[in-house]
Amino acid sequence: MDKNTNIITNALPKDMDLGDTLARRLTIIREWRGMTVKALARDSHFSVARLQDIETGMETWLSSSDRQLLALALKIDASLLQDVEARPRLEPSDDQPRYEAMLADLRDSILSGVRELECPQCGDTLRCRVQEGLDIDGQPVYLAKAFCQRCPFVLK
Ligand SMILES: [Zn+2]
Repeated sequence: MDKNTNIITNALPKDMDLGDTLARRLTIIREWRGMTVKALARDSHFSVARLQDIETGMETWLSSSDRQLLALALKIDASLLQDVEARPRLEPSDDQPRYEAMLADLRDSILSGVRELECPQCGDTLRCRVQEGLDIDGQPVYLAKAFCQRCPFVLK
């Protein structure tokens, strides 16, 4: 965390109860900022329906780009949201598009240096690494790899 984000985060009262779920935290911070759902939707470019899904706990995690947008609109550090996100346990057959979106988000996180990630299928800690290789034109490419220490999940 750099100095600037510290200042922004500290703008919230230190003893403030921020809730321990994404739903609670979003509602608490939004209301503390004096924003309606509609105002937050406008500033974050989320739809009102999507914000309501998050505030009622239907949606429990955010992609890194969505998280940045919300944090910016709420004037908080994105880690405040990430701390209370919960990834659903998803099997590929449950919901293919959501499963693919979650894998894409895992890859983004690994490539941006995050190494403490939860397995999307069992919740145990994933072993993550970045593999350097060359594409067919000989250009360097970086691939996110991960495997679960408890279940057969592999990101390749
Ligand atoms: Zn697992």
